Amino acid sequence: MLALILLGLAALAGWWLLGRRENDGVPRFPGAHLILISVDTLRRDAVGIYSGRPLASPAIDRLAREGIVFADAVAASNNTGPSHASMLTGVSAAVHGVLNAKSTPPRLIPSSLPTMAERLREAGYATVGRADAGYVTPVFGFQRGFDDFKSEYTGLFRKLPETLAFFEKHAASKPVFAFLHTYEVHSPYLSMPQRAAAAMNGFEDTEVARRVHSLVEDHVADRLSEGQFRLFDNWKAKFTSRDFEALKVLYAECVKTADSRIGAFVEDLRRRGILDQCVLVVTSDHGEEFGEHGSVQHEECWEELLRVPLIVRLPRGVLAGKRVRAPISGVDLMPTLLDLLGMPVPTGIEGRSAVPAILRETVLDPVTYAHHTSQDMMIGTVARTPQWKVYDFDNRPQWARAFHLAKDPAERENLSKSPPPEAQELLQTLKARRDVWRAMGALHDSGRSTGVMDQELLDQLDSLGYTR
Ligand SMILES: [Zn+2]
Repeated sequence: MLALILLGLAALAGWWLLGRRENDGVPRFPGAHLILISVDTLRRDAVGIYSGRPLASPAIDRLAREGIVFADAVAASNNTGPSHASMLTGVSAAVHGVLNAKSTPPRLIPSSLPTMAERLREAGYATVGRADAGYVTPVFGFQRGFDDFKSEYTGLFRKLPETLAFFEKHAASKPVFAFLHTYEVHSPYLSMPQRAAAAMNGFEDTEVARRVHSLVEDHVADRLSEGQFRLFDNWKAKFTSRDFEALKVLYAECVKTADSRIGAFVEDLRRRGILDQCVLVVTSDHGEEFGEHGSVQHEECWEELLRVPLIVRLPRGVLAGKRVRAPISGVDLMPTLLDLLGMPVPTGIEGRSAVPAILRETVLDPVTYAHHTSQDMMIGTVARTPQWKVYDFDNRPQWARAFHLAKDPAERENLSKSPPPEAQELLQTLKARRDVWRAMGALHDSGRSTGVMDQELLDQLDSLGYTR
């Protein structure tokens, strides 16, 4: 009997130390805190663990070494509003309907579609959200499910202490879900102006560098006042390759700034003994283009725009160093995180839990989908596997694209004129998926409503370069 009790205690201790193990061999962590950090516009290759450049993001790299690295994470859209709505609801833009609206009334996340915060609050979590406004605001319904949600363009500097304060207040009595969103690495890439100015040394002779220098000076005098940053006004302007290099240097400086702030936050959590009770996630809503296909920002669905970092540190560093090659979409994020927390994987959504794929890579469907949006327009859809990628632009067949990703990861040779059978098949899969989206979307039609943009928000969007 004593042996049985001891065995039971040992099992309990093992569960606490390593999590509850399911049939797929991956532990679950009921009651663990969840911290989801979305560094808006963070390219996959801007993170050292993905690019092999150890100085790019040392703090995020440390988390990656202590956690699970998803090598092929794919954003659900190229734009902030739709992509975040997908991350937080588990469905595609065609279903939730949220777009980066500026000129039409913004569509809210349908009331019939539960958000991750609502699901977690329902399960007993205290929930806190801090977003850098822009397209992650109550105007689109992003506050839903949060006990405490603030949407202000302040960067991580203010958000992180506020999040820690929330932990101090609630973590002893309830598990905490904290969602942090920041524009620190978003255009105009000036999260720390003095460092940005220093980073521009050597680029003074480019048109972009001259413009950036004058903007940096203004920025110091009057931080991000409205309408100041019109660097990308003329987005079709022919930037030179050196201009793109200049922008990349600025961007890399912003990544370092965001990384060091995240690093300080994580170390604070570690000191307070909270880190090992957390599932902690760093990811992004989309990447960024620096001339790879002739443009800037995130107006397309090229690989540099869809591929994002996804790092998940489990309590006590369980499964540290695990690298998952199976593709995972933004719509899979919520079911995956709920599954890790030992909660049921929600039904009635598109996303799947990627947890079983952590140790058995073959179990996930390799096809991921993305929605190409521009402001308040749905431009087209993309289907992607590690081998092939096809773009479908509804009634504009002349824009169609097909790439053999395995051979042509930079997407240089468009094979859509005479697509090989594999690409044709993927296109058919994409078209069939659109029927699924239509049917799922119809289920939420009665829950749809629109919000109102105020002038302050419109001005902030201008300052972020959304001026078109
Ligand atoms: Zn974004």
